[in-house]
Amino acid sequence: MIVELIAVGTELLLGNIVNTNAAYLSERCADLGLSCFYQSVVGDNEERLANVIKTALERSDIVILSGGLGPTADDLTKETAAKVMGRKLEMHEPSRRTIEEFFQRRNLELTENNWKQAMVPEGAIAVDNENGTAPGVIIEGEGKKVILLPGPPNELIPMFEKSIIPYLSGEKNGTIYSRTVKICGVGESKVETVVKDLIDGQSNPTIAPYAKNSEVHLRVTASAADEGEAQKLLTPVLDELMGRFGSNIYTMDTNVTLEKAVADLLEERHLTVSTAESCTGGMLAARLINVPGISNTYKSGYITYSNKAKRKVLSVKKSLLEKKGAVSEETAVAMAKGAAAISKADVAVAVTGIAGPDGGTKEKPVGLVYIACNVCGKVTVKKYHFSGNRAKIRETTVSNALILMRH
Ligand code: ATP
Ligand code: MG
Repeated sequence: MIVELIAVGTELLLGNIVNTNAAYLSERCADLGLSCFYQSVVGDNEERLANVIKTALERSDIVILSGGLGPTADDLTKETAAKVMGRKLEMHEPSRRTIEEFFQRRNLELTENNWKQAMVPEGAIAVDNENGTAPGVIIEGEGKKVILLPGPPNELIPMFEKSIIPYLSGEKNGTIYSRTVKICGVGESKVETVVKDLIDGQSNPTIAPYAKNSEVHLRVTASAADEGEAQKLLTPVLDELMGRFGSNIYTMDTNVTLEKAVADLLEERHLTVSTAESCTGGMLAARLINVPGISNTYKSGYITYSNKAKRKVLSVKKSLLEKKGAVSEETAVAMAKGAAAISKADVAVAVTGIAGPDGGTKEKPVGLVYIACNVCGKVTVKKYHFSGNRAKIRETTVSNALILMRH
């Protein structure tokens, strides 16, 4: 099944709002095992909108539109879609009553144009909107499905989750079950190479890779009648992936982040942790402290940006800083030892690097980072060359510090 997304709104074309509906819908459609080959954005213009819908219907089975279902004159998605599908609009009684009640309850004056929202193309399915007045609409015809959703994300998302997903899943004679295998410490192209044969030979379940800052996620999706059948389909694939990636897989739970996995590991081993940061300026501490319940584990964080701070706070030797420089293996190790000594944490992680854009030299270019991890006195240190701008280098550094902490 091929799905196509159309976001309607001149505000989107002008860049006044960001098309987050497309990001959400594409991700959810992928979860459902639907392929999305095209997405477009079109302004509030009847002729251009009609053309985009016609083109989409020629090449896709399901067309999902967002926006333009409201009461105002520029909201013309429903009228245009009905015209393209050759349907008249008729009053949908339950929607009319919902709108009436909505206004009564809030003591608002109901203007004439609000009735427009209760009009639905003949033969179409009206979809409940629990967070607004405009119902969603499903028009089926000639083997195609056109789904109209309201623009505001707080209306679109609950409607999609509650009504559209079950509708689209039923379509495939089964429900969609998926797991996310999260991999760290292996590059995106390497992961793709390792699973290429599985992807090439897949049908049910399917495997789809997604690269996320310093991580690669493999979404494994099965279509099955029930949880038991899904389990039978998914388990061999998940076992195979476990065999191929081993400890580089940090979780198979969609809701577990890398920092959560690290926090859980530390807690399981009854280890406390402290951080000492230079170029990341507290970002590593912030990511760890994002995890609820980290208070059992996290002790202290030190931001030692200047050489003087590294000396005064973490007791890094002046001679060492002069001889090796702040960005060096030796300084990273000294920072990790210093942090462990003053905080008395079992694990101390230290990062030092050159985030740029200035400050790089031939010997020590921008992107050079050292991360040291002191676990009960045993220190591991690694050298990295990261690319990208200052923000990217800092973010990658934090992810890699977390990855190092897992080992
Ligand atoms: P309303 O009844 O609020 O007019 P509508 O279905 O007519 O809803 P639009 O008028 O197109 O939708 O958009 C209303 C608001 O919804 C926009 O101002 C914007 O805040 C949000 N919105 C619309 N489309 C998108 C989108 N593609 N991504 C994110 N937000 C959107
Ligand atoms: Mg509107």
